[in-house]
This record gives sequence, C-alpha cells and structure tokens, in this order.
Amino acid sequence: MIRILHQIFRTGVVTEPLPVEVEQQVVEIGRQLEECIRKRFRRSLVIRQVDAGSCNGCELEIHAMNNAIYNCERFGITFTASPRFADMLLVTGPVSVNMEVALKRTYHATPDPKIVVAVGDCGCNGGIFAESYASLGRIGNVIPVDACICGCPPTPVDLLRGILKVISA
Ligand code: SF4
Repeated sequence: MIRILHQIFRTGVVTEPLPVEVEQQVVEIGRQLEECIRKRFRRSLVIRQVDAGSCNGCELEIHAMNNAIYNCERFGITFTASPRFADMLLVTGPVSVNMEVALKRTYHATPDPKIVVAVGDCGCNGGIFAESYASLGRIGNVIPVDACICGCPPTPVDLLRGILKVISA
C-alpha cells in the first residue's frame, strides 16, 4: 500500500489537458446539449451503443466521450446495456453478416420513438469494408437510420456535435 502511494505521489498527474480551442468547443456543445436534452428528454438522453462489426476504432472514440476529459454525463448523456431503456441507438458498422439478427433484435427491442445514428464511415456508407460475403455494408442496409456521423473514426467532439444536431433537429 505504501509503495502504491509513493508511486502515485512520484508520478503525479500525467493526463494531458485538451487544447484550449477544443475545450471551448466541448463546453459550448455541452451547454447546448444540456439545454436540448432537458427540453426533449426531461433528464437524460440514454444511449445503447451497438458494435455491428466495426474495427473498434469508432468504439474507442465513443468510450472517450465518457472519460474524465469529455465526461458526457455532465451534459445528460448516459449509456445503457439494455436497448429497452434507450432513447437512441449509436451503431457502428459495417454490419457483419453474423451481427444482422442481433442488430435487428436490438432495433425492435428499443421503444419508439427511437433515434438511430450510424457512426463512422463504415456505419454511414460501408467505408473501407463495403459489402462482401461477410459484410452487409452500411447500417441503413439493415435497419432504418435517422442520421449519420461520418469520420474514420469521428472524434468525441464530432460525436457530441452529431448527437446535438440529431436531437435538436
Ligand atoms: S469508420 Fe474507421 S474506425 Fe470506424 S469502424 Fe470503420 S474503419 Fe474502423
């Protein structure tokens, strides 16, 4: 225990702060998100994230929205493990053949009115994987999609901005 405490004090804080302009963007987008979420969803926007076959690059950025730097919970965005509690499906792709049934079941298990957002170039248009014997391509080929957030992968700021655009439309 003492060794761990020594290590903590020796190491100090190593997390790098965001560049000032990015920090300002996050604060501004977050302020608008908070306002919009309060009006439209009362308390919080609950998201079920579905990896329908991505390379996991998009997932890393989605996870980053939840870390101590971006901390999307402070704006009212939370993630759930169950589609039954979700307002929004955030789906990364392309949709692998093996994930088709699971994605359709998740879509049907999410209560209406639901919002489906395709994330990443693969989710939006098939990206570098496109369609093949193992891939059904974009999310829109399998379930109805309301909006797309492009990028390979989109950054946490792109994701926050994209979510804001969808819910404020
Ligand atoms: S858009 Fe890029 S990061 Fe996202 S799943 Fe496709 S290849 Fe991976």
